[in-house]
Amino acid sequence: MTTHEKLQFIAGERRHGSSDTELTIIDPSTGEPITTGLAAATGDVDAAVAAARAAFPGWSRTTPAERSDIMLRWAEVLRSRSTELTALESRNGGKAIKLADGFDIPGVIDNVTFFATTARNLEGKASGEYSGDHTSSIRREPIGVVGSISPWNYPLQMAAWKILPAVAAGNTIVLKPSELTPLTSLLFAETAKEAGVPDGVVNILTGAGRIAGQALIEHPDVDMVSFTGSTPVGKQVAAAAAGSVKRVHLELGGKAPFVVFDDADIEAAARGAVAGSLINAGQDCTAATRAYVQRPLYENFVRRVAELMDEVKVGPADDTDTDMGSLISLKQRDQVAAMVDRARDSGAKVVRGGRIPKHTPTAGAYYEPTLIVDATQDSEIVQQEIFGPVLVVLPFDTDDEAITLANDTPYGLAASAWTQNVYRAQRATREIQAGCVWVNDHIPIISEMPHGGYKASGFGKDMSTYSFDEYTNVKHVMSDITGEAHKGWHDLIFGRH
Ligand code: NAD
Repeated sequence: MTTHEKLQFIAGERRHGSSDTELTIIDPSTGEPITTGLAAATGDVDAAVAAARAAFPGWSRTTPAERSDIMLRWAEVLRSRSTELTALESRNGGKAIKLADGFDIPGVIDNVTFFATTARNLEGKASGEYSGDHTSSIRREPIGVVGSISPWNYPLQMAAWKILPAVAAGNTIVLKPSELTPLTSLLFAETAKEAGVPDGVVNILTGAGRIAGQALIEHPDVDMVSFTGSTPVGKQVAAAAAGSVKRVHLELGGKAPFVVFDDADIEAAARGAVAGSLINAGQDCTAATRAYVQRPLYENFVRRVAELMDEVKVGPADDTDTDMGSLISLKQRDQVAAMVDRARDSGAKVVRGGRIPKHTPTAGAYYEPTLIVDATQDSEIVQQEIFGPVLVVLPFDTDDEAITLANDTPYGLAASAWTQNVYRAQRATREIQAGCVWVNDHIPIISEMPHGGYKASGFGKDMSTYSFDEYTNVKHVMSDITGEAHKGWHDLIFGRH
C-alpha cells in the first residue's frame, strides 16, 4: 500500500489535498486498503476552479476539429492503458473483472470517440430572414466552467459521461468523483493530459460530498453543475445551485420495472431478469428491481429465475470466473441486508439468497443474489432503491394494471416490457413513464442514444448529442439588413412619419 498518494489533479498535475482528512481507498472485495491520501479542502476547490477558468479562453477557442483530434488521440491512449484501467476499476469497486473489461472500459473508449465526432456537429436552426428585415442566426457556445459530481457504481463511466460532452463542447471542468472510488477518474485525467488536453481543462477533486462537493456547487466561478447520484443528494445539489442560478443537470436514482406479459418468451425474460438485476451486483441505477409477471407465467418465471440465480458465481473481483463481485462497501452491504430483513419481517418470502455468502472473504462486502416474492406494492422493497443484487417479483392480471404498477414509484429512469405482441409493446413504450424503455431486453446502452430520467430520477441527458447540447448555450444573433435608421416597429414606441 502506498501512503499519501496525491489524490487531486489540478492544472495538469497530481497534488496532495490541503485538508488534514486522510482518505483510505478500500478494495471492497477484501476490505484491504489500496491507497491513502489527503482529501480536498475548499482551498483545493478554489485552485481547481481557477485552473479551469484560466484554461477556458484557450480551450473554448480551439476549433471543433482541434478538439476532436485531441479526443481521438485520447481514445488511443485509453486503449493502450486499458488493462491498467480495467484492473483498477475492478479493484476499487469490487466489480467482477469481466464486467469492467467487457462493459466499463470499452464503453468509456467508445464515448470518447463518439464525443470526438460530436464536437464537429453543432446543431441549430437554419439562419434566415424570419422577420423579413433581419438575418437571424444561432450560435452554440460553451457555457464556461462546469462543476460535476459523480457516484461510485460505475466510477469511470460516470466521470466520462460528465467530462466528455463538456470538453467536446469547449467547456472546462472540475469533477468530484465519489470519495470511495476516485482512482480511475484520476487516471482518466492523466490520460487526457497524455493525449494533449491542455492543463486546467480537466481537473479532479477527491473529497467529501459535503465539503468539496458543496463548495464546488456553490462556487461563484462555476457556471453549470452536473450531478449523478442519489435523489436525496440531487435535491440538495439543485437547492445549492439555485442560490447562484446555475444550470443544473441531474441524473438520479432509479427503480426500474420489468414487465412480463403472458405471451412473452419466458426463458428470455428469466435470463433478462437475472442479468438485469445482478449486473454490477445490482448497483446500477437502471437495474431491474421490480418484475411484474402476468399470472399465467408467474410460477414458472419465479422458478426459472431461482434456478438461474443458483448458477451465478459470487467471488473476488479479480477472478475471471467471477460473475458477481462484492458490493461497494460493508455499509452498503449492510443497508441492503437490512432492507431484505425488513421485507422478510413484513411478510415477503425470500426464495433465494438474502444472506452473506459463506465462501467469500469475511472482510469483503458480498451478498448473495436474492429473489423475493409476496411483497406488497406499497412496501419499502418495492418502492425504494435497493442498490444491491435483489429482484422482487410480483404478479399482475391485466395490461392496464401492469402499467399502473410500473409507474407507481417516485422514479422514472428505465423500464422494460417483455412480449411478442407488437401492440402490447408499443402501448407499454408509450405508457411507461421512464427515460428509457427496452422491449425484450433490459440494460444495454449505447453512446448515440440518451440516458436520463423522468420524475424523481432527474432531468437532463447523458451520452448522445442531447447531452452535448446541454453543455452549450444557444445564442440568437439578429442583424438588421435594411440599413435604415427609421424602422417600422419604432412607430409603436415614438413619433410617426
Ligand atoms: P450519493 O448521492 O450518495 O453521492 C453521489 C456523489 O455526491 C458523491 O460524489 C458524493 O460525494 C457527492 N455528495 C454527497 N453529498 C453531497 C452534497 N451535500 N453536496 C455535493 N455533493 C455531495 O450517491 P452514491 O451512493 O455515490 O451513488 C448511488 C446513487 O447514484 C444511486 O441513487 C443511483 O441510482 C445513482 N446513480 C444514478 C445514475 C443515473 O444515470 N441516473 C447513474 C449512476 C448512479
